[in-house]
Amino acid sequence: VRRAPKDRRPSVLALANQKGGVAKTTSVASLGAAFAELGKSVLLVDLDPQACLTFSLGIDPDTVETSVHEVLTQGAAVADAVLHCDEGLDLVPSTIDLAGAEAMLLARPGREYVLRTALEGQTAAGAGSAAYDVVLVDCSPSLGVLTLNALTAASGVIVPMPAEMLGHRGVGQLLDTVADVQRILNPDLEVLGILPTLYDGRSRHAREVLADVGERYGVPVLDPPIPKTIRFAEAPAVGRSILSTARTSKGAAAYREVAAALLKRC
Ligand code: ADP
Ligand code: MG
Repeated sequence: VRRAPKDRRPSVLALANQKGGVAKTTSVASLGAAFAELGKSVLLVDLDPQACLTFSLGIDPDTVETSVHEVLTQGAAVADAVLHCDEGLDLVPSTIDLAGAEAMLLARPGREYVLRTALEGQTAAGAGSAAYDVVLVDCSPSLGVLTLNALTAASGVIVPMPAEMLGHRGVGQLLDTVADVQRILNPDLEVLGILPTLYDGRSRHAREVLADVGERYGVPVLDPPIPKTIRFAEAPAVGRSILSTARTSKGAAAYREVAAALLKRC
C-alpha cells in the first residue's frame, strides 16, 4: 500500500445519520474497500458502541485490547489501536465500552475535539493518521458527543439515507447539526452530499424523491444511488465487504463509482 507523505493531512470523511439502518456501516466498509482498490491507504474508525463495523471486518470486539474508547478517554495513540484487516483496510475498532465514553467526555472541556486531536497525532502518546490518504468514520445513530467528535474531525460529511426516506424530517435535523458544527466547531467541514442507499429503481416514489432532494435541501446528491441488493446481507458474515464477496454486483459497482467521484473532489 502506498503511503502518503508525512506532511499531508488525510481526507477525513464522516458518514453520519442519526437514524439506524440507513447503511452507514455498509457504506463505510464498501467505500473504504473501493478507495483501497484505487490504491489509497485507508483507515476506518468505528465510532459506534454497537461495533457493527468492527464485526463486519471479521473482528470480535471482545478480543480487542485497545479500541477507540481508549483513544477517546485515556489518551491512547491511534496507532496503538489500529488493526490490519482484509482488503488492505486498517481499522480503529470499537467495543461496547464506547457506550460509556459519551458520559466521560461530557465532563471534559474541548470534548468535541478529542478525535480530531487524536487523528492529528498530537497526543503525547504518539502517531495519528498522517500515514493515510483517507480516513472514514462510521458514526453511531445519534447526534451526541461521539458524532460531534466525528464532524469536528472531518473535512467532509456524507449522509447515507435510504432513497425512500429522503423526504423525511431527519435529513433537515442532521443538516442543522452540521451547520452548527460548521459555525462553532469546524468551519472547514464540507457537506459532500447525501448518499441515497437501499435504492429500488423500480419504485416510482423512490425515483421521484431522488429527483428533487438536492434542490430541497440545497446539498449535493451523490451519484449513482446504491441499489438495494440481497448481496449486502451476506458480506459481513465473512468479514469482507461486498466489493470482494460480490465483486461484480451492481451494489459494488455503485460504491466504486461513488468512491472514484469522491476522490476527484477531495
Ligand atoms: P447503519 O450503519 O446505518 O445502521 P447498516 O450499514 O448496518 O446501517 O445497514 C443496515 C442493514 O441494511 C444491514 O443489514 C445491511 O446488510 C443492509 N443493507 C445495507 N445496504 C444495503 C443494500 N444496498 N441492499 C440491501 N441491504 C443493505
Ligand atoms: Mg452502523
